[in-house]
Amino acid sequence: MLPCLNLLSSNTNTSPNRNALKKKRTNRNFKVWAIDAAQPFDSEAQEKAKIEKNRKLKIGLIGFGNFGQFLAKRFVGTGNTVIATSRTNYTSIAKNLGVIYFKDADDFCEEHPDVVILCTSILSTEKTLRNFPIQRLKRNTLFCDVLSVKQFPKHLFLKLLPQDFDILCLHPMFGPDSGKKSWQDLPLVFEKVRIGSEAVRVDRCNSLLEIFEMEGCRMVEMSCEEHDRQAASSQFITHTVGRMLGTMELTETSISTKGYDSLRSLVDNTSNDSFELYYGLFMYNKNATTELFRLEQAFAQVKSQLFDNLHELIRNDIFDAESIDTDRKFPDDKKFCEDKNIT
Ligand code: NAP
Repeated sequence: MLPCLNLLSSNTNTSPNRNALKKKRTNRNFKVWAIDAAQPFDSEAQEKAKIEKNRKLKIGLIGFGNFGQFLAKRFVGTGNTVIATSRTNYTSIAKNLGVIYFKDADDFCEEHPDVVILCTSILSTEKTLRNFPIQRLKRNTLFCDVLSVKQFPKHLFLKLLPQDFDILCLHPMFGPDSGKKSWQDLPLVFEKVRIGSEAVRVDRCNSLLEIFEMEGCRMVEMSCEEHDRQAASSQFITHTVGRMLGTMELTETSISTKGYDSLRSLVDNTSNDSFELYYGLFMYNKNATTELFRLEQAFAQVKSQLFDNLHELIRNDIFDAESIDTDRKFPDDKKFCEDKNIT
């Protein structure tokens, strides 16, 4: 007898993303072969809780700064267990977020998280990884990063991590400001660099990606190399322009246009990121220098368009014989200076 049991039919969440994913995962994780004996009245609820529990991950974050805390909040909110460690002692912040904090990296590793995500600054990543006691982690751990550059961590992981580790490179293309309220339609770029073929390893990787998918992210599978090429002309330029405008201290005006408002919000979106992050975008993306030169050239080109035009008008004015006004009165230099208060 093969009874049809719809264990996940109760409607606990209405989001289309979540419903579609639940259906997909139910098919993957749950098989009923036969049920002959009478079941307890709450067997469906028990089974459902068991499946939900098994699906949750223990996620370890290395680096608990601005972005690490931002990610932790969502991971905890979606029912996953989050542990963290960092250079600074974040015990009380972690406690408020429902995260278990370890000052000591050895203690962190001995918790054997399923997934470890490096959230350190780009510049400190190599040093952090080289000094980290990775040998104390589970022999087969899924190792990820969220660095805003991708080729660099990919190569570093392939070089430094044990062969048994799975590697997933991630870049949430949003941060604590742009993703403050919702992650709906925000891009999550990822490359499954090395994921073992066993079902449990494939499932673990998918479970992590599904957290982002269930939050509404637009999932973009892309090689790290392609990411860096595209990010240099989008993200790096955005940060550069945001920082340039930031130094101009633009203020609100009573006649602000929508365009001007979006320039100011660009400043808000980029100014909270550390300079270290911005410098990392430049230093560790080999395409960034070309883009910086292109931006400089573009500015010079626009500026010269304006000035060339202006010079031409003035020259025409000077050299156009018919318009030369021989009786033209030039301003009295002395009086002009007195009027303008120039000494
Ligand atoms: P960040 O300034 O790039 O990084 C801060 C983190 O790096 C903190 O956890 C800090 O640890 C750690 N750190 C810095 N120097 C260190 C050192 N010498 N040794 C050990 N740890 C060090 O700012 P962030 O915004 O938190 O970014 C973290 C990562 O997320 C970066 O790789 C960034 O590219 C990526 N990311 C950021 C955003 C964003 O919008 N902010 C978006 C996507 C991806 P302590 O706090 O303990 O000092």
